[in-house]
Amino acid sequence: MNKIEIIPLGGIGEFGMNCMGIRYADEMIIVDAGMGFPEETPFGVDISIPNFDFLEEYRDDLTAIILTHGHEDHIGALSYILRKFNLPVYSSRFTLALTEKRLGEFNMLDDVLLHRVEANDIITIGNFKVEFIHASHSLVECFSLAIHTPIGTIIHTGDYKIDDTPVIGKPYDLETLGRIGDEGVLALLCDSTNATVPGRTPSEMAVIPALEEIFGETEGRLFIATFSSSLHRLQIVFNIAHKFGRKVCVIGRSMQKNVEIAEEQGLLKIPFGTMIDLGGSRALDNDEICYLVTGSQGASTFKGMEIQKGDTVVLSARIIPGNEKGISRMIGHLYKRGANIIEERRRLVHVSGHASQGDIKIMVETAKPKFVIPIHGEYRMLFRQKEFIKNHVGNYTDDDIILIENGNVLEIDEYAARVVAKHDLHKNFVDEESMDVIEYDVVRERKKLAYGGAISLVVTVNKQTHTLAGDPQITFQGVAGIDPLNGFAAEARAAVSHAIKDMKPEQIADRTVFKENLRIHLKRYIQKELSSKPVIVTTIVEI
Ligand SMILES: [Zn+2]
Repeated sequence: MNKIEIIPLGGIGEFGMNCMGIRYADEMIIVDAGMGFPEETPFGVDISIPNFDFLEEYRDDLTAIILTHGHEDHIGALSYILRKFNLPVYSSRFTLALTEKRLGEFNMLDDVLLHRVEANDIITIGNFKVEFIHASHSLVECFSLAIHTPIGTIIHTGDYKIDDTPVIGKPYDLETLGRIGDEGVLALLCDSTNATVPGRTPSEMAVIPALEEIFGETEGRLFIATFSSSLHRLQIVFNIAHKFGRKVCVIGRSMQKNVEIAEEQGLLKIPFGTMIDLGGSRALDNDEICYLVTGSQGASTFKGMEIQKGDTVVLSARIIPGNEKGISRMIGHLYKRGANIIEERRRLVHVSGHASQGDIKIMVETAKPKFVIPIHGEYRMLFRQKEFIKNHVGNYTDDDIILIENGNVLEIDEYAARVVAKHDLHKNFVDEESMDVIEYDVVRERKKLAYGGAISLVVTVNKQTHTLAGDPQITFQGVAGIDPLNGFAAEARAAVSHAIKDMKPEQIADRTVFKENLRIHLKRYIQKELSSKPVIVTTIVEI
């Protein structure tokens, strides 16, 4: 009897980079292909992507990619996986529009097969029947997936919250989820991002009162900083601005593009005459304008808009983990410029798009799965979801709620779920400027350079006699404890010369062995004298 295999490539034990393989009877579908935003910018790279090389061993099994929704941490790595495996992609119209925008930047649109699906569609991909369930989230046209296989149904929640009154679109489709739950669900892969938060996540509507108050009391220019993908929020801002007689000017390319796509698709409804361009906005009085900006850049300007005394800036967004310092610096700059800042902690100007404990309870009780597998989140959040479900929902025990890690292979059948293999998956990184992949080894090398600096050793030898010709040259870059006056460089040079004198001619004649011996020797010497581990580059010049 075949078993279902759940193989996460990312998004488990970390924030972002969501990607999951689901395999049955030699067929494998991929759910989401997201990018991650490593917490501390690791040495010149800002973006991480899953290690798709790992999928090589499943090359013949891969059949499709399904995208739950259009956030970057779910679609941002799509172009990289498609370059390796040209698979058909299934998702909602809005998600595909965001995807097209992205693939277009890489000139990949001609080669990719994009299939548009709608909520309640059921598509057959080999042994899988995938049913799309309408999910509410901070973005629109999002799905939870019911993946039906001959031995049972897996539900992948995607990102969700149970929002009864979203601004755009319908509430979470609990009816369909309940029907599938009644038919029997083998496993629920459930978003853990907010599993540490008690109660229900407030509806997208919840920010309206605070924003109305702010529009009502603000006399100067108003800046609303939010994510370009938070469409419910954008709709609210357009509506309130219209009500309070302000025009809205959308700043920044990604925000403008998203507004354009969403309006074109009839998702965003902009009251007539409310939107204005930058030129037009400058002719208005301060109390007649509201700027919509994506404010996460750690600067006191928004795409050329200087913040000035009397401006009010509303931070209507979550601070992405890892960005706290940058945001804090930005807020500092804004205060310095005399702006009034309104943050989430002071007024209810932001709500999360993810399920809190109350939402998780509804999800589990409606889907009634045999097994629960917490996904999307750091280990702490996965663990807390497990504890919460054990303590507050039905009859679940440690055996029913399984914590997994990236690279695990979790085997499930109707009797048991257990991890049968663990692969060590390092991430890959992307250079944000060129969008090229940077190999893991390069980042590791940069890390070494950053921590220990570099030493370059140049040794000149006589080609015929294999003896040293002149003094070795050593240069230091960023190595602690070195100072031109303290004589260390001369001592290191002498130590290398000494070591070479002790070597036999045949050890020098083999240049590879010679080079490696020199490196090891210098490394030991530096470690002994300075207790540091710089990168050592040796060059041999023959004369
Ligand atoms: Zn999301």
